[in-house]
Amino acid sequence: MKKELRVFYVACLAALVSAACMVPSAKKAQKVPSGTSAVKAETATQKTTSTAPTSSAEATEQEPPAQAPAADQSAETKALKIVRVLLADNQSETKIEHSGRVYIYTQNLDKKYKVSSEGTLSVRFAGNGKVQVGTLKSDQPIIIEPAKETLLTWSGNIYSGKIFVVPAQNTFILVEHADLETYLYGVLPYEMSYSWPAEALKAQAVAARTYTLRTLETVKNKYFDLYSDVRSQMYKGGGKQYPSVKTAVDATKSQVLMYNDKLFYTYYHGNCGGGTDDVKSWNESARTIKPLSGASCAYDSHSKTYSWKQDIAHSKILNYMKTVGLTGKLKNIRITQRTKTGRVTRLAVQTNKGVKIVACNPLRLAIGLKSCKITKMQVDSSVVHFAGHGYGHGVGMCQDGANGMAKAGKTYEQILKNYYPGAKLTTLKK
Ligand SMILES: [Zn+2]
Repeated sequence: MKKELRVFYVACLAALVSAACMVPSAKKAQKVPSGTSAVKAETATQKTTSTAPTSSAEATEQEPPAQAPAADQSAETKALKIVRVLLADNQSETKIEHSGRVYIYTQNLDKKYKVSSEGTLSVRFAGNGKVQVGTLKSDQPIIIEPAKETLLTWSGNIYSGKIFVVPAQNTFILVEHADLETYLYGVLPYEMSYSWPAEALKAQAVAARTYTLRTLETVKNKYFDLYSDVRSQMYKGGGKQYPSVKTAVDATKSQVLMYNDKLFYTYYHGNCGGGTDDVKSWNESARTIKPLSGASCAYDSHSKTYSWKQDIAHSKILNYMKTVGLTGKLKNIRITQRTKTGRVTRLAVQTNKGVKIVACNPLRLAIGLKSCKITKMQVDSSVVHFAGHGYGHGVGMCQDGANGMAKAGKTYEQILKNYYPGAKLTTLKK
């Protein structure tokens, strides 16, 4: 593809760039969103060298070229390639800034542009199933590829991978194709504080890398592998690199956890409240494996989420109960099942219309309770007073515990061994 583009640029230079070769939207002044100082604002007077489409042929239903990973790629192969991250869906119009040269082309390469200097690209849904980037319109994905030193800024976040603008009904989605290790630069600071000790960050890097690669094994969507929010892992672009995070990711490059020679979902959470639990406590239909069967945790009591109190309005609880088929006024809540660490797995909710037993975790998420490790529950006239320990589902690595272990001088290998017992730290080969 690179060679083809080069030939193309030479052709364009030979033809002398004309006004028709410009990308008009790239010339418009655009305010840089706050927090993106790495990317300078474009000015209306910038010089733009762009090329006209190589052909006026209509885009066809051609299959994507090599950049879209096939479903049968092994995890080891993917480790060295790219992850496709959904940055946003349901978009109708947006701007993407580029700090330097970018290449813009349709997926089947029938139309290609180059913008040689910094600027802002206008991206929009153009009707009839087409998307538009600058002047380039297509009913197939349009790719914005940054040159080596170029960074792309979208919605205040900085990216170094290619961004795909993919038509989707009457909108478009934005998907970044990021190198796995670069992707992790953009995950870690939002899943764990970059100021935490190096060994905790390294443990987090291995957990996030493993989780990512395990996820890639079961991808069903045609255009992306991961969300950029809590549905997968938080991600705000690999273009902004915190030194501590970069060090942790680089020091553990290609390292993953395996159990019985297979990747597994290396779940992690904020605070386990003194001990983690079997994955079944979180999701009854999950299959227990040794690394996700629970672990002791003696290092998380320093955190403010270790012990908490929360008052939750009746209305929140009743709204959830309606979704599982129980209406009426809240009368009582009883705990009917706990794990051996004290995490509640089932509760009986009683209203004036009846009683229903529910799993704790979906209720917790719906009402915003910090965890199911509930130590106190008192139904008052309009609220329920809760007290408990921990934050999150309590399965896999306890991040506060990892922090505590690192501060106590433990290595990332020791941290991972504690929270994922029986798992083997493995370096993926090229
Ligand atoms: Zn813990």
